[in-house]
Amino acid sequence: NIKIICADITTLKVDAIVNAANTTLLGGGGVDGAIHRAAGPELLEECRALKGCKTGQAKITRGYQLPAEYVIHTPGPIYQDGTHGEPELLAHCYRNSLILARDFHCKTIAFPCISAGVYGYPMQDAATIALSTVYTYLADTKANMIVYHVCFNKETEALYRTVLANIMSKQSDSKQSRKC
Ligand code: ADP
Repeated sequence: NIKIICADITTLKVDAIVNAANTTLLGGGGVDGAIHRAAGPELLEECRALKGCKTGQAKITRGYQLPAEYVIHTPGPIYQDGTHGEPELLAHCYRNSLILARDFHCKTIAFPCISAGVYGYPMQDAATIALSTVYTYLADTKANMIVYHVCFNKETEALYRTVLANIMSKQSDSKQSRKC
């Protein structure tokens, strides 16, 4: 139930798209700016009422002019050197967004590569955390949800595919060794 696609996340007709927001939830550049532009000014109005969001947490709004019904806003960590809790915080972004999506009965959810733009997270590490957190969540909860990882260019898409293949082969290795 994990799909990797190359697209502009604002064009997707899914139950929820995830916004790599900042802690003010008042809009910004990158994917955040694109989502606010496509959703229209009512999104900012609803975000204002939320009074911000902590890094790693997630809050939900309607999608307004977007094809998606909901937007889940989650501020990713700003990357320093990886030893300041960034991996855990980034994993929390994915997990908390998935929990919120499930609470709102979403069956399809699309993530951008959180923190891997202006926030400077190395793409390979960010992709590994994204895919392994989603993989573990879906396996543990048996959630009936399709999760799209939306890459903004072909290089990122290829990287995501390699990382996912590695995660799957590690899983099947560990299943094999458990059988032995
Ligand atoms: P952050 O501040 O969390 O680093 P950014 O918006 O700067 O967030 O970037 C996060 C990722 O989203 C980057 O990989 C960037 O290329 C990608 N991105 C930017 N715009 C879009 C879009 N419209 N659809 C999908 N992904 C996007």
